[in-house]
Amino acid sequence: MTDKTITIALSKGRILKDTLPLLAKMGIEIVDDIKTTRKLILDTNHDHIKAVVVRATDAPTYVEYGAADVGVAGKDSIVEHGGNGLYEMLDLRIAQCKLMVAEHKDYAGDKGRIRVATKYMKSAKAYFDAQGQQVDLIKLYGSMELAPLVGLADKIVDLVDTGNTLKANNLVPTEHIYDVSSRLIVNQSSMKTKDDLLKPFVEEFKKVMDELA
Ligand code: AMP
Repeated sequence: MTDKTITIALSKGRILKDTLPLLAKMGIEIVDDIKTTRKLILDTNHDHIKAVVVRATDAPTYVEYGAADVGVAGKDSIVEHGGNGLYEMLDLRIAQCKLMVAEHKDYAGDKGRIRVATKYMKSAKAYFDAQGQQVDLIKLYGSMELAPLVGLADKIVDLVDTGNTLKANNLVPTEHIYDVSSRLIVNQSSMKTKDDLLKPFVEEFKKVMDELA
């Protein structure tokens, strides 16, 4: 991307759904039809602002390497990524949920070393390390809730919003690891090299968030 443009990495799924109204409040609209377009770099109603829609877990990586100057990413994705090369500028208070430990409602209690299935390896490791509890972490990419039901793991670490998914699978949340919401992240070098474009963008975003507070 040229220095005259800023590119925003948007996280697919529920984060995207909640981000678009915030951008609209800033007067930024994606002009391509986001549901049907096959274009990967999307135009907005501002010539100098482009958007890419990426997997939620990839958004921090796009911003870290400056492939996107700014991004909207879940706190969980930022923690798992590690946060290298990016600044977390604003809490957007969207896509809120909690990262939690859960187990089967009839779980008999820990007997020795337990297995924990999760997509959130770094977060889970940090949490159990801090508890002084040694666990075997099993990396999964989805449907963590299935693991305790089929004997793959004793517990899971997953995002919980309404708790309906856990309940539907006879699981109960037991420990709260951290609260999650989406954050505005900015590439550290872009913040210097494109500050004429990024500063007003971040300030405008902050204003919108202050108005909504
Ligand atoms: P719920 O049944 O409302 O508790 O939602 C739980 C399911 O939605 C789990 O599969 C979670 O991984 C997923 N989930 C909940 N909140 C979020 C979020 N903010 N971002 C991404 N996935 C989420």
